[in-house]
Amino acid sequence: MTVHKVLKFGEPILKKKSKPVQELTADVKKLVADLLETLYASKGVGLAAPQVGVLQRICVIDFVPEGKKEPIVLINPKIVGKKGKVILEEGCLSFPGIFANVKRFDKVRIEAVNEKGLPIVVEGGGYMSRAIQHEIDHLDGKLFIDYLSFFKRRNIKKEIKNRKKAGTW
Ligand code: ZN
Repeated sequence: MTVHKVLKFGEPILKKKSKPVQELTADVKKLVADLLETLYASKGVGLAAPQVGVLQRICVIDFVPEGKKEPIVLINPKIVGKKGKVILEEGCLSFPGIFANVKRFDKVRIEAVNEKGLPIVVEGGGYMSRAIQHEIDHLDGKLFIDYLSFFKRRNIKKEIKNRKKAGTW
């Protein structure tokens, strides 16, 4: 297993659409293991394949506090149900240190395939639902700042520009 570098905002690949996984090959299994390893090393709650430079529809989520591991692997995830709207603060491993309030569906129902190639249904509310929507967006090249107003997005981009200049991005 390999810990990958998580790509930060500014990398063009983060804006691209990922392709569906056709078959659970050894390469795909390795990618899933690497995504989890990278997620744990980054102390995040969710990570999508494009964030490590691979345009495949795979993402991983784990909410369990450090020490325990209860990963959810979503391959070719699809939102099949959604309910309500809620605003919560969120961040992203591709935007270290940047947080913003984003309006998303309160509850979602997802169909996907897991790391064993079995079809799964995941239902969640609260932060689980939020993480799932955030990660699926990554597979479509959509980032959480895309939900923000023009002014908020401009401020975040300015901050990133300054941090790039300072060499801290
Ligand atoms: Zn993210």
